[in-house]
Amino acid sequence: MQRPVYFVVLILLFSLIGCGKKTMITNSEINAAYISSNPSNYFASTQKIIVEVYYEPGAEPFVGTKLNGHPYWEILEDNLKAIFKFRTFIPEVIVPKDQAAMYSIPPQNKTSWTADDLVALNKSYKQGLPTATEAHFYLYFLKGNSSDSNSIIAESVNGTPVIGVFKSVITASGGNVVQRYVEQSTLVHEIGHALGFVNNGVPMKTPYQDTAHGAHSNNSNCVMYWQNEGQADLASFVAHYIATGDNVMWGPEIMADAQAFSK
Ligand SMILES: [Zn+2]
Repeated sequence: MQRPVYFVVLILLFSLIGCGKKTMITNSEINAAYISSNPSNYFASTQKIIVEVYYEPGAEPFVGTKLNGHPYWEILEDNLKAIFKFRTFIPEVIVPKDQAAMYSIPPQNKTSWTADDLVALNKSYKQGLPTATEAHFYLYFLKGNSSDSNSIIAESVNGTPVIGVFKSVITASGGNVVQRYVEQSTLVHEIGHALGFVNNGVPMKTPYQDTAHGAHSNNSNCVMYWQNEGQADLASFVAHYIATGDNVMWGPEIMADAQAFSK
């Protein structure tokens, strides 16, 4: 039964995680709205972390449970808990686990999404505002694609906690279980950038940044690896977590940075 495996690898070859989508909106506007959304707050003053999930009809996030009976969304939750475990005050982490705890938005009828589109969307729908003690991350599951490329799975908007997820790229990424893991690992990766990794606001203890590819790790076993080069890596990366049931995807270098930066 080799064919399904080749199929997964082939599809992933054309899928990538887009990172650091730039906006045309002025920095001052971004700063005014998201002045509290920064690594210095996340790893010092933040007491509560709220993940808000929004979806268009037809782009619903995957819900349900893994083979071990635990919800898929525990993957994102466990990674957030792990990265904040070094804080003196351990922040409360709130991640929705089922669709009833997520927000439906009206059909947007868009085929292409820019960073400005994502920021404007969040201006319309966000439930809570970030403060120095309460962090909010806004995940939008959308129909249509990134304006940068039709093969991009998700993008975070630079300087904001706003992330767009392009659902059709995920549903083309493999079998049922692989799709669900690709979705969760992509969310961990994008929130990882927003949290300040790699060298994106949280300083490095030792050099491990893949500088040729921006804010990524040179450790291929880390969720912050630049995964669009060597797509077999993404397939085998996800396969490891499917096989073991482990949830925490940060490499040791990320954890060391989080520990050193935490107050
Ligand atoms: Zn990235």
